[in-house]
Amino acid sequence: VDNTSKVLRQRFLDYFIKDHNHNFIRSSPVVPHHDASLAFVNAGMNQFKGILLGRQKPRYLKVANSQKCVRIGGKHNDLNVVGTDGYHHTFFEMLGNWSFGNYFKKEACELAWQLLTEVYKIDSRILYVTYFAGDKVLGLQPDYECKEIWKNIGVSEDRILPFGTGDNFWEMGTTGPCGPCTEIHVDMRGGTNRAQFVNKGLSDLTELWNIVFIQFTRNSDNSIKPLPTNHVDTGMGLERLCALLQGKLSNYDTDLFSPIFVAIHKICKNIPPYSGKYGEADWNLLDTNYRILADHARMITACLADGVIPEQNQKLRKIMRKAFSVSEAYFNVENGLLKELTNYVVEKLGCFYPEMEKNIKTIHKIVDHEEEVYRLIRKVSAAEWKKIVNKQPDLSNFDVVEMPGLVAAYKELKSLNTNSLTPQLGYKLFDTYGLDQDTIEKLSSKLNKKFDIDGFKDELQKAKARSRHVSHSNVDRFLDTLEKSQVPVTDDSYKYIYSKTGNGYNF
Ligand code: ATP
Ligand code: MG
Ligand code: MG
Ligand code: MG
Repeated sequence: VDNTSKVLRQRFLDYFIKDHNHNFIRSSPVVPHHDASLAFVNAGMNQFKGILLGRQKPRYLKVANSQKCVRIGGKHNDLNVVGTDGYHHTFFEMLGNWSFGNYFKKEACELAWQLLTEVYKIDSRILYVTYFAGDKVLGLQPDYECKEIWKNIGVSEDRILPFGTGDNFWEMGTTGPCGPCTEIHVDMRGGTNRAQFVNKGLSDLTELWNIVFIQFTRNSDNSIKPLPTNHVDTGMGLERLCALLQGKLSNYDTDLFSPIFVAIHKICKNIPPYSGKYGEADWNLLDTNYRILADHARMITACLADGVIPEQNQKLRKIMRKAFSVSEAYFNVENGLLKELTNYVVEKLGCFYPEMEKNIKTIHKIVDHEEEVYRLIRKVSAAEWKKIVNKQPDLSNFDVVEMPGLVAAYKELKSLNTNSLTPQLGYKLFDTYGLDQDTIEKLSSKLNKKFDIDGFKDELQKAKARSRHVSHSNVDRFLDTLEKSQVPVTDDSYKYIYSKTGNGYNF
């Protein structure tokens, strides 16, 4: 059987759409133009938040999609592990099916189990399921109903595991739809030689599919309130599914990543090919950076295709600068590597996400521009920082390549005629100069300035509230227009939203 990513994605959609009467909804852009509580879309359900909360009427009661997701901040932040394990990426595709007040727990579990075991023909002996173990603090009971459902499906009891709130009570963010979930995990070692797993960066069980029973909403006062209707919201990582069905131990060994590694190797000079090793030792530092570069190339391509501009999005800018610095430090390529890699990403994903193909020229233009800016700043700031470090050698541990704003921040702190750093100035170092909290703390301590961390955190909160306020009125305005024009929440309505906001596909 053909188990390439393209086929596996389509098989998922066909199963729900053709065989089980769901409607297809296109992926929304990776930035939620309609939700100020999130910086990036982190799950398939984001675009359905209005429906789940009962604020919008769904056009269809059963839908399926493949959503472009980014997890580099907020409640779901995987940035720091990317490159070190085989199954977390900054950008990934989440396959999902939804029931808006239609079917609930029983059918959701049955549909998932049948797809995995009968359509994808995964041996049920390597599968485990979890159910919500309850939470006394939240006042929530264990989900024994879910446990019963799995027993009736035929899963043996020793493979049905109770998991706590951290894993099995899913929440989109600090506020918004939430509920108990049940997860399907895979024993990737099943039927294989255990020795293969040593140093592979793989845990015993890998989570494959999360089925959430959306029954509550978390409010900004932290309380959890039941919703008027019960919904099903599921998400399965396409990259993990590919690894499993292509017989690989790591997502990076699938057809989604291999061509990118081959390309990197071809372009860079005198560097060994990707070997697929994991761990901290020097001999596989190169592999880790192969993974970081390939991962970031996918994330950057997806963001740029959706109209995210690094000028306006510091997080994207940071990831791009990381990709440039990795290209140079590990692959000896001074220019153009990232740009070339975006072609390979588009070649792989463009067939399903046409916005990538359509915007390829813009993607190239922005990457070129950012790379030029990066090299310039780096050259100037690196030279200046070197002078500063000569005067004060204990500053040599700061990474000016990733944070060129250090130079300006240092000068500003030096020119202070007090011994303390106000929360407002702290915020300026964060917002204008791009320093993270940790760096601000370390730099101010090296320069003997007292830094009021609590005050700084207040300042951050205030800034968040400001941006939320502004965007909420935008959101309300276009939801309003949406209602009046009666554009349903579908692919078309998203196109409509983008055309109204001037973002997304129309940039
Ligand atoms: P994990 O526990 O492995 O971090 P999760 O519980 O955070 O996953 P969910 O929020 O439940 O993930 O998302 C649904 C599915 O999306 C997961 O079961 C997994 O298959 C996939 N997934 C989640 N995060 C990532 C990621 N960073 N990279 C690739 N796939 C992911
Ligand atoms: Mg996670
Ligand atoms: Mg999990
Ligand atoms: Mg999960």
